[in-house]
Amino acid sequence: MSTALVQAINVTKNFHGNEVLKGIDLDVEQREVVCLLGPSGSGKTTFLRCINQLETINGGRIWVDGELTGYEDRNGRLHRRTNKDIARQRRQIGMVFQRFNLFPHKTALENVVEAPVHVGGRSKAEANKRGLELLDRVGLSDRCDHYPAQLSGGQQQRVAIARALAMDPKLMLFDEPTSALDPELVGEVLTVMRELAQQGMTMIVVTHEMGFARDVADRVVFMDAGVVVEQGAPTDVIDNPQHERTKTFLSRIR
Ligand code: ADP
Repeated sequence: MSTALVQAINVTKNFHGNEVLKGIDLDVEQREVVCLLGPSGSGKTTFLRCINQLETINGGRIWVDGELTGYEDRNGRLHRRTNKDIARQRRQIGMVFQRFNLFPHKTALENVVEAPVHVGGRSKAEANKRGLELLDRVGLSDRCDHYPAQLSGGQQQRVAIARALAMDPKLMLFDEPTSALDPELVGEVLTVMRELAQQGMTMIVVTHEMGFARDVADRVVFMDAGVVVEQGAPTDVIDNPQHERTKTFLSRIR
């Protein structure tokens, strides 16, 4: 049996007959950091959303921590997990989006403790204590009582990372976490992600930050038009790509 934390086999996904994932195979081992690279529209976000069951796949299978997630079979029959199962499976996964999606009327700390208190059933005192630790971990212990509008984009994204960590996920998914930020704020978010990786978090990161991918990823996966074109160690794929499509993509973003 596979020891992978995420195992995806031949995953397909269509939107209104338009196939955007065309048979994705990907295993992610515990403590592994995988960066997904590829041009806009290649299916990277959709794939992350499938792992988190924000989308139901139309073919293939995805296991997270050995547990099968929902899918639609060839005859269009939905093998959906119960809402309770999906909620439980999602609790193992923290997701960070391009736009930080913080609650605007809640402070940084309130944003972080929302899920542990309301979904995780933790006491407020316990959740606050842990929330403060997490805000400290992302370098924001002095901003606990600030509202999102009082924080820079980089600080908001760091709160979003602390919030995603608050349920003690086994896996973190990052969907272009720095692409909505002003360039001078990108570094502070990447630093937090780098530390998380060093602490052994399993991470799948959609990013255009080649420096981060080269330094932090154990593996990079290049996707184009709904397929994995090539994958391997960052130095191999980024510095010595084998496929024309990878070469073209890398030459454009450099
Ligand atoms: P990437 O993250 O690589 O930029 P996406 O996964 O966002 O790519 O998108 C892949 C393709 O799927 C695009 O053509 C996009 O327009 C399409 N797509 C994504 N989400 C939806 C949706 N909810 N409905 C219809 N089409 C979608």
